[in-house]
Amino acid sequence: MKRLFLAWMAVHLLVSPAWATHYADKLIVIDCGEGHADDKSLWSPGENAGQPFDMANNCYLVRHEKGWLLWDTGLPDTAADQPGGLRVEAIRTTWKRKQKLLVTLNALGLKPSDIDLIGLSHLHPDHVGNVALFPQATFLIQTAEYNNPVPLLGLPFLPGQSVKKIDGDYDVFGDGSVQILATPGHTLGHQSLLVRLKSTGTVILSGDVVHSEESWNRQWIPARNVSIEMTRSSRAKIARLLLTEHAQLWINHDVQQSAQQRKAPDFYE
Ligand SMILES: [Zn+2]
Repeated sequence: MKRLFLAWMAVHLLVSPAWATHYADKLIVIDCGEGHADDKSLWSPGENAGQPFDMANNCYLVRHEKGWLLWDTGLPDTAADQPGGLRVEAIRTTWKRKQKLLVTLNALGLKPSDIDLIGLSHLHPDHVGNVALFPQATFLIQTAEYNNPVPLLGLPFLPGQSVKKIDGDYDVFGDGSVQILATPGHTLGHQSLLVRLKSTGTVILSGDVVHSEESWNRQWIPARNVSIEMTRSSRAKIARLLLTEHAQLWINHDVQQSAQQRKAPDFYE
């Protein structure tokens, strides 16, 4: 009986790759702009009034055997043509972009039509600036985000662009290697991304679930977040995953973290 069981196990392990951990091939960090805010207290209520706050603004490309996933599209490429940057008075921030996303993709040997999937952490303008450059991609977004875009700005999609609406967590390639995590609170349908890499280990791309390591440690919640409670529980979800998955949290807007990361065309694998 025992021998039979072992034989069954051996066969099952051979034919059932779902038992093994699967990995994405590569993760590429792309500089998609930077923000210079006049008043840090907008991100740390009650502290740092009138202090400046600098933000990185990265996009990420994930290579998987089934295709490319772009995570966020950053500031619009046209911002690179405006040396003075784009001023967003609502958050007293000037956004700048050094290199266009299309130029970076080109240096990687990629055309926009090579990008199959684009995940949007949320619909704030510093994350969706280049949606229109990808008419052939399918966009992955939470239904709650799609139904609640930024007032006055609305949805960034062109007529005919393909949008897949997601409710909760989502296994992008069906093998567990790249998973969208529902992390509402900054916006109603905010999401983060978990990427398993063979050498680097598991990485969680924050989106705006938190804006800096300092903010994570001090548990600051920006005053403009739609829900403090949802933000807290989303951060608790991320914190649990950091422990159980031995994962690293890559915070999109953290300038110190970003300065230490290898950027395109370099990559993590
Ligand atoms: Zn945001």
